[in-house]
Amino acid sequence: TELAQIRNFSIVAHIDHGKSTLADRLIQLTGTVAERDMKAQMLDSMDIERERGITIKAQTVRIEYPAKDGKKYILNLIDTPGHVDFGYEVSRSMRAVEGSLLVVDATQGVEAQTLANVYQAIDADHEIVPVLNKIDLPAAEPDQVKAQIEDVIGIDASEAIPISAKTGLGIPDVLEAIVTRLPAPKGDASAPLKAMLVDSWYDPYLGVVVMIRVMDGMIRKGDRIKMMQTGAIYGVDKLAVLKPQMVDIAELGPGEIGVFTASIKQVRDTRVGDTITHEKKPCLKALPGFKPSIPVVFCGLFPVDANDFEALRDAIEKLALNDASFTYEMETSAALGFGFRCGFLGLLHLEVIRDRLEREYDLDLITTAPSVVFRLHMKDGEVRELHNPADMPDLTFVDHIEEPRIKATIMVPDDYLGDVLKLCQDRRGIQMDLTYAGSRAMAVYDLPLAEVVFDFYDRLKSVTKGYASFDYQMMGYREDNLVKMSILVNDEPVDALSIMVHRDRAEARGRVMCEKLKELIPRHMFKIPVQAAIGGRVIARETIAAMRKDVTAKCYGGDVTRKKKLLEKQKAGKKKMRQFGKVEIPQSAFISALKMD
Ligand code: GDP
Ligand code: MG
Repeated sequence: TELAQIRNFSIVAHIDHGKSTLADRLIQLTGTVAERDMKAQMLDSMDIERERGITIKAQTVRIEYPAKDGKKYILNLIDTPGHVDFGYEVSRSMRAVEGSLLVVDATQGVEAQTLANVYQAIDADHEIVPVLNKIDLPAAEPDQVKAQIEDVIGIDASEAIPISAKTGLGIPDVLEAIVTRLPAPKGDASAPLKAMLVDSWYDPYLGVVVMIRVMDGMIRKGDRIKMMQTGAIYGVDKLAVLKPQMVDIAELGPGEIGVFTASIKQVRDTRVGDTITHEKKPCLKALPGFKPSIPVVFCGLFPVDANDFEALRDAIEKLALNDASFTYEMETSAALGFGFRCGFLGLLHLEVIRDRLEREYDLDLITTAPSVVFRLHMKDGEVRELHNPADMPDLTFVDHIEEPRIKATIMVPDDYLGDVLKLCQDRRGIQMDLTYAGSRAMAVYDLPLAEVVFDFYDRLKSVTKGYASFDYQMMGYREDNLVKMSILVNDEPVDALSIMVHRDRAEARGRVMCEKLKELIPRHMFKIPVQAAIGGRVIARETIAAMRKDVTAKCYGGDVTRKKKLLEKQKAGKKKMRQFGKVEIPQSAFISALKMD
């Protein structure tokens, strides 16, 4: 295909502003998918994505569009994920296209993820076409939102296209704008092959599928290709474009986006951002590489039933085949037995993996408290990464500890600003900026990631009744006064509950945790002390009173069926309990005890 007849673009938007619906309309109006095969949200494939209405894996579709100028165009849409945890996928796909549609819900205006995603598009030098969606709704305020796009983002919105992705209004204008306002890709078909590895995934039938954007040269089925970063050489078995199902194609040239298979064993053998060239006639210079995505949040995953360990190992290995961004290694815990310490890109990523393990593999899991990666500067000069608070060495060997900090952007209606500022303050946040656009405020905070990973989103949602939006990026490491706090139940340390915490907040956190555990752990036949301690020093303490021996007798004395029911309930409950010394702790306690509200 001639370069002048190609347009490559992505759609950037805040969650729920209508990105997937717009993609559906574009696919539908151009007849890319036959009407009878059309289902809502063509590009969102995983269950969890549909349920939560978010796109996790970036997807791609090739659309053929006969424009008003009488020429036929090929439009390649890369649907980028809309959540902060998957920012790395956003930036990688942005580099494969020249333009973006900026979709803003005309009833909501610019939100935190609108900003984060549009800045990525600007960084990638995209031409940006603003689109105002949901103008079918009476609450739509297209003019105000236009002004807001100009004020807050700083791009020209005078030619923003009003649409309703739901009713189809304005969709033809979007297609024309893609052709007339976005630039055609550049490239040299006669130069040696240079293609960017944009994404890869595991297909149960085809093995590893690699998505590429060709910059220069041509790639054909049967070609011997080389991955410049890994040095690996493969033969191209299958070359295809996504419509969005795979359709074989003979060759791909500059500006084109497609996929190939090449008997690659695992996703880990492919590096996103790598340059693909021909074995025989290679290009001279590789494309600038992407930063690999590094896990920032770690937690332990243990089977509730120790006999499920092998099943858990199988499941984790299978999932890892398709998700090179999640890491795992075996872990043994005195309290929880055998399990895995897993690393994730963020909290949503953690939830996605845990949900898939429980749902698709039918496993009951205990998830320990999420923890960030701390950097321990040892007195002997060594720098260690701490992935698990339970591994914290004796403080006498540690000179100082650093923790990761983030730059958080929160957009919120004025009325809730006070609560948001308080929440950020409570989480050791430092205000960097506070500005207003209309009746919405934008607060930018420097926050410790450790204070955000646990329940920050939930708290933010609840104090703002869901009206705030949030986004963050990593800023780097900074020293602070951090200590490990252990929890002892019946004088035994429960390592799965130990956390790293700021010294000044240790007592308050310890008190809350002990109080919560007192509620969460059922009474036993004996009295159970619950303590929080730093080193050998106890900083908070609660006691769970012993059960009175006659309780069951008194309450359920005569009623046999009720007694039976109670026993059954206890038995079912047992599955979700873990034994710690003489004490049984319910699985739910491990997460609930750490919530800070
Ligand atoms: P995404 O998260 O950006 O992919 O958003 P979706 O495309 O999933 O849309 C979020 C919700 O908004 C869905 O319930 C859509 O049906 C609805 N929606 C999308 N576009 C429109 C529109 O133009 N008008 C109205 N009224 N609803 C829309
Ligand atoms: Mg979507």
